[in-house]
Amino acid sequence: MDSFDVIILGAGAAGLFCAAETAARGRKVLVLENNSRPGPKILVSGGGRCNFTNMHAKPEDYVTTNPAFVPYALSQFKPKDFIEIVKAKGIPFHEKKDGQLFCDKSAKSILDLLLSRAEERGVILLKEQETQEVSRNGGLFHVRTQTASYSASKLVVATGGLSWPQLGSSDLGFRIAKQFGLNIIEPAPALAGLTFPPEEMVRFDGLAGIHLNVSVSIDNWKMQEDIMITHKGLSGPVMLNASLHWQPGQEIVINWVPELDVEETYQGLKKEKNGGKVTFKPWLSERLPQRLAARLAYHAGARGNWAELPDETLKKLAETLHAYRFVPADTFGYRMAEVMRGGVDTRELSRKTMECKKVPGLYFIGEVMDVTGKLGGFNFQWAWSSAYTAAQAL
Ligand SMILES: Cc1cc2nc3c(=O)[nH]c(=O)nc-3n(C[C@H](O)[C@H](O)[C@H](O)COP(=O)(O)OP(=O)(O)OC[C@H]3O[C@@H](n4cnc5c(N)ncnc54)[C@H](O)[C@@H]3O)c2cc1C
Repeated sequence: MDSFDVIILGAGAAGLFCAAETAARGRKVLVLENNSRPGPKILVSGGGRCNFTNMHAKPEDYVTTNPAFVPYALSQFKPKDFIEIVKAKGIPFHEKKDGQLFCDKSAKSILDLLLSRAEERGVILLKEQETQEVSRNGGLFHVRTQTASYSASKLVVATGGLSWPQLGSSDLGFRIAKQFGLNIIEPAPALAGLTFPPEEMVRFDGLAGIHLNVSVSIDNWKMQEDIMITHKGLSGPVMLNASLHWQPGQEIVINWVPELDVEETYQGLKKEKNGGKVTFKPWLSERLPQRLAARLAYHAGARGNWAELPDETLKKLAETLHAYRFVPADTFGYRMAEVMRGGVDTRELSRKTMECKKVPGLYFIGEVMDVTGKLGGFNFQWAWSSAYTAAQAL
């Protein structure tokens, strides 16, 4: 059996970064990856350009059941720290918007950066190693794969989330957590968009492809960003973020004209009516794509000759435009989700080291734990920050 100081399960963003930082501290590090290629999610991230951090990342950008856990790691390794590494490697990048940093060329340059840093520091990376069993005795962790067994005094679980199973995601992290008696916050697909229930499917039929800027709210959460109507539901940045906060059965509220208030919309519609127009088109379709405007008007009962519509109908239409409510059927699921919400309960871990409180030597980093960032580079920043924080203790 080969022995190491540290074994890291998963050669993704967190695992590779943690490996290099740990090896830089003189530790003998082994990374075991079940896929034939490391970092599969890095390669597809950011539409192939990897939104590798967000310059403004702060604890409030993360959804977790234990918010007190997040600030320490983020303060230990900040976006500017990763940006320095990217700059030092000469990787060209740009800010798309709102602090979101993307590679100019390809996400592969971030994966290459992680791999070369690990290799330069002597990390051993073994691919196609499916973990069959993890055990612990004599102060050592033993990992048995289909071909060999390895041992180390410290084991880091960096196996990521359940999204995109087509890239080889697995629940190994959860199995290890359960084996050692750790609590898990129920995982769910997130940054995924939400699907229509049957009646909304009929209402939005034929509108796929329309995109516009709207405001969406779920209880106290609210965001104004772009939405996209698809054949099965609503997507686009605002809906991906909404799926991070949505619980099954919850109503979502869409404001289709967020630049106005209800009264302004009502007065605008009324002016149109008093002008003797026979259709709603000019005023509404200046503000909304025409096909969507027509559908929403029909839905609010504004049908027939516009000039003859009662004021109450216009009021109802104004209200509908500002607060279109429905209960989504579901998220688009793990196959479409960028991340998983939930995961290993961070109350089980030290926020200063990522080590399990009741299992010394066992660490969890990255997406496998119950810390999920919103869209825009926050999830990679969590991978770097949690990995770095753990590495300082390994
Ligand atoms: C399509 C898509 C686009 C994204 N775009 C962005 C973006 O632009 N910006 C951003 O911040 N976030 C983005 N994300 C999210 C981001 O990729 C993840 O949050 C991040 O990769 C998490 O890092 P991690 O190391 O925890 O997990 P991962 O990077 O997923 O790494 C986990 C590793 O563990 C391996 N593994 C899994 N099971 C086992 C096992 N049983 N044995 C051994 N190894 C195993 C996996 O193969 C993988 O290599 C995107 C995600 C997707 C799916």
